[in-house]
This record gives sequence, C-alpha cells and structure tokens, in this order.
Amino acid sequence: MRNGKIGVTTENIFPVIKKFLYSDHEIFLRELISNAVDATQKLRTLSAKGEMQGELGELKVRVEVDSEKRLLKIRDNGIGMTAEEVDRYINQIAFSGAEEFMAKYQDQAIIGHFGLGFYSSFMVSDKVEIYTQSYREEAPSVHWSCTGTPEFEMEELEEKLARGTEIVLHLSEDMKEYAESAAIEGLLKKYCRFLPVEIVFGKVKEWKDGKYQDTEKDNVINNIEPLWTRMPSEITEEQYKNFYSELYPMSDEPLFSIHLNIDYPFNLTVSSTSRRFATTSRFKRTRSSSTATRST
Ligand code: ADP
Repeated sequence: MRNGKIGVTTENIFPVIKKFLYSDHEIFLRELISNAVDATQKLRTLSAKGEMQGELGELKVRVEVDSEKRLLKIRDNGIGMTAEEVDRYINQIAFSGAEEFMAKYQDQAIIGHFGLGFYSSFMVSDKVEIYTQSYREEAPSVHWSCTGTPEFEMEELEEKLARGTEIVLHLSEDMKEYAESAAIEGLLKKYCRFLPVEIVFGKVKEWKDGKYQDTEKDNVINNIEPLWTRMPSEITEEQYKNFYSELYPMSDEPLFSIHLNIDYPFNLTVSSTSRRFATTSRFKRTRSSSTATRST
C-alpha cells in the first residue's frame, strides 16, 4: 500500500471539476468509454506491430450498474496500466498519456483526445477506484482509489487480475440516476452507437414465464461496422433502410440514399430535386467517409 499526493498545482481542483468543468454531467460516461476503447485500440496496435505477445482475444468494453450499491463499472480488456503508468497518466493530471502514445504511433488511428477525461468521473462520484493489469504479464495488478481529494491510495495486488482496466464509480447520492439501467443504456446509445469495439451492457432479455429474463447473449449497444465504413457495392437497399430506421425509428422510409466515400478534407455541393423533395446542401467535413439517407 502506498499513499501519495496527486500532482496538481491547486488543492481545489476537484470542486472545480465537479461544479464547473462541464455543465453536462453525463459526458463522464463518454470520456470513460473513450478511454476504454482507446485502451483496446492501443493493444490492437501493439499486437499488429508484434510488440505484444499472447492472445488479443475478443476486445470488448463492459458496462455494469448496481443500483442498490450506487455503483457503475466500466471494464475493458485493453492495454491496462502498470503502477508506474497509473502514477504518470492518472496521478499527474496534466500529463496526457494519449499524447505520448500518439507521438510514438503517429500513423495509427487512436481516438485519443486530450484533457481531464478520466477526472470527469468525479463530477458524479464520491469515490473512484481503478483495478488494472497491464498487458505486460510480469507487471503486478494495481488498485488505485481516490475520494475526490488530492490524496489517493495505490497498491500492487497479490492476486493477478485479468488483462485490462476496470473503473468503479461510487456514485454520489445526488447522481444516483446514473445507477439506473435505463439511464445508462440511454446514454450508451447516445454516445457509443458507432464505436469500433463492442460495448456490452448486460444480457439480451427475453419474455419468459410472465417476465423479462436475461438470456446468455451479450447485449451489445453499438454497431462496430456501420454502413459508411463498408463498400457501397456490398450493401443492399434493405440494409440502407434498416440503418436509417435504426437512426430514426419513428420516421417513414427514406426516399433515397447517397453513399459518400471521400478522402478528406473535402468540399461538396449537393443539389437534388424531385416531386416531393428539393434541396441544396453544402458540406465541409473532415471525416473520410459518410452515409446520407434522406426522407421527407
Ligand atoms: P486523455 O484520455 O485525454 O489522455 P484521461 O484523463 O482520460 O486523458 O486519461 C489519462 C490517461 O490515462 C490516458 O491517456 C491513458 O494513458 C490512461 N488511461 C485512462 N483510462 C485507461 C484505460 N481504461 N486503460 C488504459 N489506460 C487508461
């Protein structure tokens, strides 16, 4: 067990994070899931470069809630962290691990974004714990916890955890809405629909013996291969329609679909007329590819 001080210049950083950093509290979930997805992508990169031995396995992010205990857990089987990395990336708030990784592997696509991502969890929690095991098998597993003061606790564990990281949020009383399954599922659908790694939230339920019961099947929130990442020649009209109704469940069928596969940056002017629909649109985007499906 080791006690230490988080490297910030002000003692009052946590109240600032809690009250003022983001007006929208719910984005903490997006930040933690982005980190978890980044961790799996980093591992994939290391494996592709031959810098990681052993099985990658099925890379997934799992989210669980326990509304009675007001707990929310986000678990990934990605790169994990050693004690030294927790010190560097978590305890030294200003230091961004993503920045270092990006500099080393510039040619790889990492979602990485910079800021106080992980610490946004303190907007909704009284206490946050990290359980982590680095992909470097010789490194001991680490437990870190912090109650929203600049003091933290960190210890190397006797037992060996599975590879990856679990973030455990002890939600504060006034944020207990985030311990409700329906609220979390709604947020996951809002923020995680098209992330490139499966985000699993419990099991698929089915109606049996007069009530909904869990099946064996993971409830996967996102579509890891959205239509715009595939070639138009592989996609049927039916799939475009399904994609549209997935995005806009209450709408009529689309009138037509346009599939754009373009290198960035680009300028595009679209002009279209029909008896029921007329439009002129300008797009200026930095995404490499995009699918547009339009209804009246
Ligand atoms: P950023 O993601 O912008 O770097 P964060 O505060 O969210 O900032 O995270 C800081 C660093 O902590 C990350 O860059 C990463 O190195 C490490 N980290 C956070 N979450 C995880 C995770 N689930 N698995 C592995 N490393 C993580």
